[in-house]
Amino acid sequence: MLTVESTANTGRQYLPENPETLSPNQSLMPLTATVNDQDHLVVGGCDVVELVEKYGSPLYILDEHTLRTTCRQYRESLQKYYSGESLAIYASKAWSCMAICAIVDSEGLGFDVVSGGEIYTTLQAGISPTKIYFHGNNKSREELNFALDSGVTIIVDNFLELEMLAEITGDRQATANIILRLTPGIECHTHEYIRTGHLDSKFGFDPNQIEETFTLVGRHDYLNCIGLHAHIGSQIFEQQPHKDLGDVLAGWLKKAGEYGLNLEILNLGGGLGIRYTESDDPPSIEAWCRNVAESLEAACLKYGVGLPKLIVEPGRSLVGTACITAYTVGSRKVVPEIRTYVSVDGGMSDNPRPITYQSLYRSVVANRMSDECNETVTVAGKHCESGDVVIKDARLPTPQPGDILVVLDTGAYNYSMASNYNRIGRPAAVLVNEGEAQVIIRRETYDDLVRQDCLPERLRQI
Ligand code: PLP
Repeated sequence: MLTVESTANTGRQYLPENPETLSPNQSLMPLTATVNDQDHLVVGGCDVVELVEKYGSPLYILDEHTLRTTCRQYRESLQKYYSGESLAIYASKAWSCMAICAIVDSEGLGFDVVSGGEIYTTLQAGISPTKIYFHGNNKSREELNFALDSGVTIIVDNFLELEMLAEITGDRQATANIILRLTPGIECHTHEYIRTGHLDSKFGFDPNQIEETFTLVGRHDYLNCIGLHAHIGSQIFEQQPHKDLGDVLAGWLKKAGEYGLNLEILNLGGGLGIRYTESDDPPSIEAWCRNVAESLEAACLKYGVGLPKLIVEPGRSLVGTACITAYTVGSRKVVPEIRTYVSVDGGMSDNPRPITYQSLYRSVVANRMSDECNETVTVAGKHCESGDVVIKDARLPTPQPGDILVVLDTGAYNYSMASNYNRIGRPAAVLVNEGEAQVIIRRETYDDLVRQDCLPERLRQI
C-alpha cells in the first residue's frame, strides 16, 4: 500500500469524498473514481492507464454509475417536490450516441433532440418516439417530415416553422403534437454564447408577439398545441432565473387558456451547471429540481391555473461529470521565465470548449496520482492553432512524455462538438462499469477520414 501524507496537493485532491450521497454535478470526478495500489486512477472499477494501453489514446471514458445516478436524482427529485406529473428529458446535444441514449432511456427519462441526425440516433437506440421532443430554430422541411413520420413531438420555434408545419400536416391530413418555444426575457450570468433566454436571442417566439402566436396556432386544424417551452441558458449556478421562469411560463399558460389553448405541459429547459473547477459552486440536482418544482407550483397558484406536466431538459449536468478524457503526454517546451508547454495527443478537435468559450478544466496525471503537483504548465493540444490550449496554468506533478494526463468533466459538449480538424480522427469512447469496459464509439481511422471524399476521375494520378 502507498502511504499518502497529504492529498491536498496531488491528483487525489479531486476524488469525491462522499460518493454515495453526492450530487454528481457537484463532483470534480466521476463518483466511482478511486486510486489503486499502483497509484493509478481507477474509474468504474477500471484502471485508466490500462484502458489507454488497451483502447488507445486519446480516450473518452464514461462512467455508467455516475450517469445512472444523475438520471435517478433528476427523476426522484422531480417526483419528490412536484405534486403534478413530471419528466426529465436528456438534452442529447450534450452527447448524442446510441449507448448513452439506451442508458438514459432505461432510467426512465425522455429526450430532447435538435436535428434529423439526433432524432435518427435516438430511434436507432430503440427509443420510443413518444419520449422524443424535437427542437431547433431552423428545421428543414425534410427534418419536419422525418419528425412527423417518426411521431415525435415538435417544439416549434418561429412563424416560418409554424406555417410550414401547418402546410405539411394539412397536406398529410394528420395531426401533429407541438409545443411552442418562447423567449422569456430572463437574463442569467453565463457565457454570452450559451445564454438563450434573454430577448435578443435567435431562439423562440418573441413574447411581444404572444397573442399573434396563440391566435395563429388556434387556427390550424392539424396542429395540436400541448405546451410551452423556454430555456434560459447553460452552466447556471443561480436559482433565481429558474424561479422567475416558472412565474413567466405559468402566466403564459393562463394567457394561452384565454385564446382557447388548453395546454398540459410546461417545459422549463435545462441549464444547471457543473463543477469544472474548485471555485464552481452549482446547486445540487435535488436543490435545483426543488426550486423549479416549488416555484412553478407557487406560480400556478398565483395565476389560478392547474398544475401542468413539468418537463425539464438537462444536458450538461446529466452527462458532464460522468466522463473523463485520457491523453498521452508528448513534447515539453520550456520558454524560460514565461511558460512551460506540455503537449498532449488531442486538443481542440476532441474538446473545442476551451478555444470556443475559454472554458476551464482540471486535470490529473493518472499514472502518478499521489505525486505532488509541483509544476505549473500549460497543457497544449496538437493542432495547428496557437489557441489550441486544453488548460492554461495547470498544477501537475511535472508531466513527462508517456504520462497519462486525464482531463476531468468532459462528458458534455466534447464528443458532440468534436471535429476532424487537421484530419485527426475522433477518439474512441469506452463505457466503464464494475471493472468492465466496453467500446461505445469506435476510434476513427484514416479510412474513416476519407470516406466521404470523392476524387473525380480526371484528377486521379494513378
Ligand atoms: N434545452 C435547450 C433548448 C437547449 O438549448 C439546451 C442547451 O443549449 C439544453 C436544453 C441543455 O442545456 P444544459 O446542457 O445547460 O442543461
